[in-house]
Amino acid sequence: MPPAFHVASHPTSAAEPAVRIQGVSYTYPATGIDSNPVQALDNIDLNIQPRTKLGILGPNGGGKSTLIKLILGMLKPSKGSISIFNSTPTKARNQGLIGYLPQRIEADLDWPISVRQVVTLARTCNRKPWTKPSNEDREAIDRSLELVNLQDLADRPIGALSGGQLQRAMIARAIAIEPKLLVLDEPMVGVDIAGQQRFGQLINTLQERLELTVIVVSHDMRAIAAVADRVACLSRTLHFHDAPEGLTPAVLAQVFAHDVAGVFGDIHIDAHRAEDCDDPSHTHTCCDHEDSDKSGGNQ
Ligand code: ADP
Ligand code: MG
Repeated sequence: MPPAFHVASHPTSAAEPAVRIQGVSYTYPATGIDSNPVQALDNIDLNIQPRTKLGILGPNGGGKSTLIKLILGMLKPSKGSISIFNSTPTKARNQGLIGYLPQRIEADLDWPISVRQVVTLARTCNRKPWTKPSNEDREAIDRSLELVNLQDLADRPIGALSGGQLQRAMIARAIAIEPKLLVLDEPMVGVDIAGQQRFGQLINTLQERLELTVIVVSHDMRAIAAVADRVACLSRTLHFHDAPEGLTPAVLAQVFAHDVAGVFGDIHIDAHRAEDCDDPSHTHTCCDHEDSDKSGGNQ
């Protein structure tokens, strides 16, 4: 049983959403004389309440990574505004309020650096060079490794981890600063269903223990369903389905009804779990859920 995790007391107001996005558009400028500007986001409005797990589902090129870069303050909106815990994205990031798991892990995995050193660097990278980690730093690093269950592999070179272990190391790196908001960009590419469920359980545990607000973006509905309790669809514009009851089959069906309306027109989908159905006239068929994708998921 890992020790209780200290939840950093960052100044947040109960009434204020964790993330407030108002009328945000973003256009990438033309890069050469024969290229055009690309409007990646068009007039996005979104409030994310503290301690919820929002999934943002959208096709490749739909603007998910752009939205994340705006939330992290790495890009500035062409129009509109974003506040994170009542602060600008840049200030929130500098205050250590945002933990981030990037879409691609851009580390040189042959570099002889241990898992613990990677997590330590994340915690101490804003310090003056050669400053030793404090006891508080060391405790936070140990807790982060324990929360992702990598304490026994802490001294292993980062390049010697399996795909699933590496992803957990990157989560430990993201939470080592004790953030209030955790942002995950396409976290489960190439992970099978069982691996996605384990990842979802891990994020759930972290969310509860650290009282996190979580944003996960993916083009994969299963990845979103494994993690999120709210869902929005993003394809340059955003449709947010606010469902206090959480992410149920009916909610997903409504979200997809919106998503496919441009192709099929208005459709009506009646979705429910077979075991919750009390209509004897319904027949329920189910596909075989044996993992069809054996390409990854070695957690
Ligand atoms: P997603 O993460 O949903 O796949 P992105 O946010 O990466 O989508 O991209 C949204 C759109 O912006 C795409 O049309 C993409 O080609 C374009 N885009 C992304 N990055 C750049 C960039 N640096 N310069 C120009 N266009 C870009
Ligand atoms: Mg992306």
